[in-house]
Amino acid sequence: MKDGYIAVMNCKGCGMCRGVCENNALIFEGERVVRIDYDKCTLCMKCVEACKNGALIYVD
Ligand code: SF4
Ligand code: SF4
Repeated sequence: MKDGYIAVMNCKGCGMCRGVCENNALIFEGERVVRIDYDKCTLCMKCVEACKNGALIYVD
């Protein structure tokens, strides 16, 4: 399994990552992702691939 975590930086609220996390680990405030629930995140990388704004970053 991957090590590390997903960082959230400057989410634009575009909505492209809505629904991609099967583990409900993306925490939204309104339209924007504000943080990741690290207890739920499995580092599957789907949200990182979905975000074309570079707001979700894998940090190892
Ligand atoms: S890496 Fe996967 S499990 Fe973690 S927040 Fe993104 S979509 Fe959800
Ligand atoms: S795809 Fe990226 S910019 Fe758009 S809402 Fe999700 S984290 Fe924010």
